[in-house]
Amino acid sequence: MSTTIGKNKSTTDAVMERDNFACFRCGASILTRIHVLHERRPGPALGTVANTIILCGNPTTECNQKVRANPVLSQKLGYSIPPTADPLRVPVFHYAHGFVLLDRAGSWHRAHQRVIDGWEDECD
Ligand SMILES: [Zn+2]
Repeated sequence: MSTTIGKNKSTTDAVMERDNFACFRCGASILTRIHVLHERRPGPALGTVANTIILCGNPTTECNQKVRANPVLSQKLGYSIPPTADPLRVPVFHYAHGFVLLDRAGSWHRAHQRVIDGWEDECD
């Protein structure tokens, strides 16, 4: 598997490699479970690597359902961002690394830590 992100690499491939084929929120492997490529922001950023994370489940199960069912918390955690916000500038909470900023090329770096009330991780 190549680690070079080039112009020919699809958004899907770049996101899968960046997230190591695991749910961004809980870390569950998505190789053997239903998952989605979740668009953090609706609109013009659709399909860009920084705007996309892997979530386990479908709209009614697991992390995908939790993100949809908790819009306020999901926005605090960066899973959902306002239409006017730049996905490159909004940190998103990774299950293992904490808050990170995602880039266009399929990499991430740590963001300033945020304090979150009410976050829970119960996928297994
Ligand atoms: Zn999950």
